Amino acid sequence: MKIFNTLSRKKEEFVPIEPGKVSMYVCGPTVYNLIHIGNARPMIVFDTARRYMEHKGYAVNYVSNFTDVDDKIIKKANEEGVDPSVISERYIAECKKDMEALNVKPATTHPQATNEIAGMIDMIQTLIDKGHAYVAEDGTVYYKTRSFKQYGKLSHKNLDDLRSGSRSLLVSGEDQKQDPLDFVLWKPKKEGEPYWESPWCQGRPGWHIECSVMSKKYLGDEIDIHAGGEDLIFPHHENEIAQSEAANDKEFAKYWMHNGFLNIDNKKMSKSLGNFFTVRDISEKYDLQVLRFFMLSAHYRSPLNFSADLMEAAKNGLERIVTSVTNLHYLLENARSDAMTEAEQKLAEEAKEYIAKFDEAMDDDFNTADAISAIFELVKFANTHVTEGASREFIQAIKDEIILLSDICGLIVEKKEEILDADIEALIQERQEARKAKNFARADEIRDTLLAQGIILEDTREGVKWKRA
Ligand code: AMP
Ligand code: ZN
Repeated sequence: MKIFNTLSRKKEEFVPIEPGKVSMYVCGPTVYNLIHIGNARPMIVFDTARRYMEHKGYAVNYVSNFTDVDDKIIKKANEEGVDPSVISERYIAECKKDMEALNVKPATTHPQATNEIAGMIDMIQTLIDKGHAYVAEDGTVYYKTRSFKQYGKLSHKNLDDLRSGSRSLLVSGEDQKQDPLDFVLWKPKKEGEPYWESPWCQGRPGWHIECSVMSKKYLGDEIDIHAGGEDLIFPHHENEIAQSEAANDKEFAKYWMHNGFLNIDNKKMSKSLGNFFTVRDISEKYDLQVLRFFMLSAHYRSPLNFSADLMEAAKNGLERIVTSVTNLHYLLENARSDAMTEAEQKLAEEAKEYIAKFDEAMDDDFNTADAISAIFELVKFANTHVTEGASREFIQAIKDEIILLSDICGLIVEKKEEILDADIEALIQERQEARKAKNFARADEIRDTLLAQGIILEDTREGVKWKRA
C-alpha cells in the first residue's frame, strides 16, 4: 500500500512501526458551530482510509480531537451568556450526530483539549527545560522556533524566507517575542475567558500544543499517520512537529496525509460570499450518503468543487449501486436452485477481478475515485450476468461483493425494509400456531427472520412480547 507523504512529497510504501497495527491521528474540528461540508471532507476521507486498512487486517488506533477551547468558542459563549463548555458540549453532540449520519465511525478516542491541560503543562515545561521555549514577562510562554533546526521540513519552507515574510507580522500584545517566528504555547487569561493555573500564569494553552500532547498520550511518541486538511500543513502541523520532536527526541509521525480543499461553485466557501453550507443544510435536501459518495468520487488530495449538478450526479451514481443491490435482493428471494452451476462458478471467479481492481486503486494512495469505478464495473457485471434463474449461491456471492466494497467506502447500499407492526403481529401469530402444532423448526425460523430485521421476541407469562432492537 502506498501513501503520498507530505513530508517527502512522494508516494511511499506504507510500513507500519509495529506490524499489523496502525496509529493514526486526525486533527478534528473546533466546536463552536455545526460542522460545515468542508470539515466533513477530512472526516469522510480519513474514515475511508481507516476502513480500508481495517479491511486489510490492520488494527487501527484512530484518534481525533475536539478543540474545545478557542477564541471563537469564547466569543459565542459570551454572546449567549453561558459557560464556554455549554457551547463546546452542544456542538460536540451535534458533530457526533452528523458523523453518524455520514457513517463516519467514532474514533477509538475523541479527546478534548480542556481535559488534557495537565499534559500540556508538562510538555511546555519540558520544552522550557530543554531550551526550546521561554517565558515572557507577562507569563506568556513562546516556542523558540529557531531552536528547532528542522523547522519547515513539512511545509518545505525555509526559516530565513519565513523570517523576511513575517517581519511586519508582529501581532500587538506579542511584542515580548524574541523572534517574530516564535509561537504561543501558553497565554495569560483575559477578562471573561476560561483559565487554568500553571507555573507561569493563570491562562490557557495555544492551539498547537493540544495535538502534540493528545497524540503522545493516546498513541505514543511516534505514530504512523498524522492527517488533516491541507490548510493545517503550515503553521499547525509544522508547529506540532517542532513541539513533539523537541520534547520527545523521536520522529513524531512517519506519514503526513492532507486532504485538498472543498470549494463551492469554484469559489472558496465563506459566510460573507453566502456560499456556506453546514452538513445539516445538505441533509435537508439529500440523504447524507450522497454527500459521502460525492466526497469519495474525487481523490482526497485533489481540490473538490461542490455544486448542485455534481450532487445530482452523485445521487444518481449512488442510486445505481443501491438499485442493483435491491434487484439482487429480490432475485435472491425468488431463486429456484441453491448451488452454483459450473458456468456460474466461472463467472464468480471473473467477478473477483473487480475486488482486485478496487484493492489496487485503494493501495495507490487511497484512490477512491478509481475504487468507485471498480464498484460500478461490478454493478454492470451483476446487471448483465445475475438474472432470473440464477442460483441462490451465485446471487448471494455477487451481492456480498458489492456490499463489501461499498462498506469499505462507508457507503450503505442495502435498503433496510421497515417491517410494519401488523406484519410482525401476523408472524408472531403464525409462530404460536407452529408451536402448538409442534412445528418447532418453523417457529424458530420465524423468530430468526424477525431477529434479522431487528425485532426481538420475548416469551412471557402474559404471552409473546416484542420490541425493536
Ligand atoms: P477547523 O475546525 O477549521 O480546525 O477544521 C477542521 C478540519 O476541517 C481541518 O482538518 C481542516 O483542514 C478541515 N477543513 C476546513 N475547511 C475545509 C474545506 N473547505 N475543505 C476541506 N477541508 C476543510
Ligand atoms: Zn491538530
